[in-house]
Amino acid sequence: MKMAQILDGKAMSADIKAEIKAEIERGNLQVGLAVVLVGDDPASRIYVDWKKKDCAECGIKSFEHILPADVEQSELFALINRLNADTAVNGILIQQPLPRQIDVTAANERINPLKDVDAFHAENTGRIMTGDYRLTACTPAGVMEMLKRAGIEVAGKDCVVVGRSNIVGKPMAMMLLHEHGTVTICHSRTQNLAEICRRADILVAAIGKKDFITADFVKKGAVVIDVGMNRGEGKKVYGDVDYDNVEPLAGWITPVPGGVGPMTRAMLMKNTLTAKKLQLS
Ligand code: NDP
Repeated sequence: MKMAQILDGKAMSADIKAEIKAEIERGNLQVGLAVVLVGDDPASRIYVDWKKKDCAECGIKSFEHILPADVEQSELFALINRLNADTAVNGILIQQPLPRQIDVTAANERINPLKDVDAFHAENTGRIMTGDYRLTACTPAGVMEMLKRAGIEVAGKDCVVVGRSNIVGKPMAMMLLHEHGTVTICHSRTQNLAEICRRADILVAAIGKKDFITADFVKKGAVVIDVGMNRGEGKKVYGDVDYDNVEPLAGWITPVPGGVGPMTRAMLMKNTLTAKKLQLS
């Protein structure tokens, strides 16, 4: 049975991080990322630790700020103001989810758009529409980088994105469109989903449901990108794609773990370096 080519996000992200480190060293740049963690959610703690590790690998200084789960919004906003003003901090990331008393949109909007390395500020999400990118949402940017590094052409291809969230589905669709893909966005109200997905040359699953994309959704030879990260028993993570049954059909496929996840992390580092350069110019 034919085997799909694997889009190895782990290997690609290691290359990207090495390139970032080399650029920082070449330019003798001082680059800093501040990560704000509110509360003690164990998954958030893991993500913040990964970000610190990535920073260390790239030669980026990381600053960690931990606030209690019941922190007042005004206190969080005062911290963001200080980080906006701190020239040693080039990127600011507020780990989400945030507790109920915090207005997430207002927190995102308070970050200086030039330091908004998650690209959640309306200025950066707006730039996704025009294609005049500065800082771009890390997960879709990671997917685009993966396609580019694998030499997969987007222009003229039928691209189907399942999921329309502000952080993955929508920016993903716009980025594919800017690369001249013919893009369809699907969601929970889409009818004949499997049939639409079967038209895709490039299929992106960003749903949040384990094994949702079965072989019935996939055209032979398609590029299948699995953004899903669904927690199973213990620490095991599953994608949205039924990998064992889809892989023999696909032309290219991302594994979970080791696909889009590490690329997302690498793009955060890349955004932090881009933020530094934007602030210098
Ligand atoms: P959201 O929950 O915000 O969005 C999920 C999307 O899937 C929604 O648009 C929803 O449609 C759609 N959907 C849900 N059920 C169906 C269905 N039955 N048929 C068709 N569409 C459906 O999730 P996110 O976009 O934040 O994340 C998606 C997945 O990606 C999650 O597993 C998340 O953990 C993972 N993720 C992984 C990252 C990585 O680095 N690998 C980074 C970010 C997220 P509707 O809008 O109609 O409700």
